[in-house]
Amino acid sequence: MPHNFSKTQGLPGGPEPAFVGTKELLIERALARLRSIPDPLCKYTMLAALRARNPDVFYGLVGGNLQETTPIIYTPIIGLACQNWSLIHPPPPEADSPLQSLYLSYSDLEKLPEIIANLKTALPHDQMEISVVTDGSRVLGLGDLGVGGMGISQGKLSLYVAAGGVNPKATLPIAIDFGTDNEKLLADPLYLGLRQRRLDDETCQKFMEVFMKEMHKNFPSMIIQFEDWHTTLAFPLLQDNRDIYPCFNDDIQGTGAVVLAGAIRAFSLNGVALKDQKILFFGAGSSGVGVAETICKYFELQGLTEQEAKDKFWLVDSKGLVAHNRGDKLPIHKQYLARSEPDAPKLRTLQEVVEHVKPTALLGLSTVGGTFTKEILNLMASYNKRPIVFALSNPVAQAECTFEEAVEGTDGRVLYASGSPFDPVSYNNKRYEPGQGNNMYIFPGLGLGAILARVSKIPEELVHASANGLAHSLTPDELERNLLYPDIERIREVSIKIAVAVIREAQKLGIDRVEELRELSDKDLETYVRRKGYHPLIQAEATQV
Ligand code: NAD
Repeated sequence: MPHNFSKTQGLPGGPEPAFVGTKELLIERALARLRSIPDPLCKYTMLAALRARNPDVFYGLVGGNLQETTPIIYTPIIGLACQNWSLIHPPPPEADSPLQSLYLSYSDLEKLPEIIANLKTALPHDQMEISVVTDGSRVLGLGDLGVGGMGISQGKLSLYVAAGGVNPKATLPIAIDFGTDNEKLLADPLYLGLRQRRLDDETCQKFMEVFMKEMHKNFPSMIIQFEDWHTTLAFPLLQDNRDIYPCFNDDIQGTGAVVLAGAIRAFSLNGVALKDQKILFFGAGSSGVGVAETICKYFELQGLTEQEAKDKFWLVDSKGLVAHNRGDKLPIHKQYLARSEPDAPKLRTLQEVVEHVKPTALLGLSTVGGTFTKEILNLMASYNKRPIVFALSNPVAQAECTFEEAVEGTDGRVLYASGSPFDPVSYNNKRYEPGQGNNMYIFPGLGLGAILARVSKIPEELVHASANGLAHSLTPDELERNLLYPDIERIREVSIKIAVAVIREAQKLGIDRVEELRELSDKDLETYVRRKGYHPLIQAEATQV
């Protein structure tokens, strides 16, 4: 029976008007209000206030209208929210309100064990299941936004709930303030964070060592997702922790998995044997390198030797083709896939590298909008029957090319995916649908599976399992439409399939900690995952087991 929040019979007065209505009506009313607001940032603040006040109504609204609301609570509008965090951050809540977000700063280092131990009493749920942790040092493609990164932690966790069915009370967004190098923020009297330059990576790493240890001591099953850390910290942080704690980095691994899933579909459609694919990455930051290494590993799992797999990849950064012999000292993360060809030092621009490699697939993770020019798209179309072009940089303005440009530049033959959403396109009287290689296809299902199996760590095999789960989740109708990814409105269903694949892989690796799930048949495991999910419109069952 739906709840009715109207006044109870016989009671005079009260904090609410006479006919508040059922939860469904509350959602309908909130949606009408959302649609009446013209300004995107105001839409965001309206939804953020709704989430804080009534999570069931917020998640009912978001879950039922994903296509419309994810661009507000996640990319692209979340970027705007993070940039304006000091303007939109609400005043502190009443003293006894449950904690909804946690800000830590470097000055908390000594007291960290005490702060984290105290969290248990301050949180709305004793079993915390997942936290998204950022230091705001590299938010989307927007650079250092200091404590504004909190918007990203909150947005990601909202999607864990709406798209994965994680219990909202068991989520904790965390922003860690190590200072900022953003001059505008440092000069802004309203800025909410520390007014000091960012600490060096080594100092931040020392803080994170204590943080991870204390989090694990107090919340041993909690999954920690690192989000939007600058590359120079993101890789070491993952390296230091991935074999000890259940954690992952969504920029590196989540992006890798979602792009791999789209690439698996695209490789099956472009008519080129796996061993003949040639993949060019524009952008060699944490996302570009993470994705390239994930696809490279997939090639190995498909039977290529490590060297054969590596030979299929070329990376381009702001200095040109990433190569051992180009004359600069390559950072560690770029070395694994760096080339050695003699021509490398001469290949400085993307077009030069495209002409040199003649790739079957061109993937952009560069943060630089408009860089897949008409000439480059024409070249891709001249080498391939079905060129693969993934313009993955966010937000929309940073996408390397729009869907329309890709369709026109390749005469409608492109296999396209982007990071941010684009509308379908009509070209020569035919309708084309873009793929959105958005991490939100992966992380809610990966996180849900990891939570339910209470994994002790998240090795690469779990990430690959999630990509395979996604690549094989398309319905016959979606396959018929040549889509690279399933319809976003089906995300909840897709996340269940991914979670099942992740749990099964964890069991295979012996890193799961819930014995009774091992005995379930595939069908029963799926029913179990479905039943454990949080549903805002029905009595929610907590996801922990
Ligand atoms: P990053 O800053 O770590 O890396 C950017 C890379 O691009 C660097 O290697 C840099 O050298 C290169 N680059 C910058 N300007 C260039 C230029 N003019 N010419 C050539 N190379 C240039 O950033 P990141 O974390 O790797 O993220 C990159 C982009 O990927 C962001 O826009 C982010 O939003 C996007 N992203 C998308 C998804 C997704 O939708 N699936 C997921 C994660 C990240």
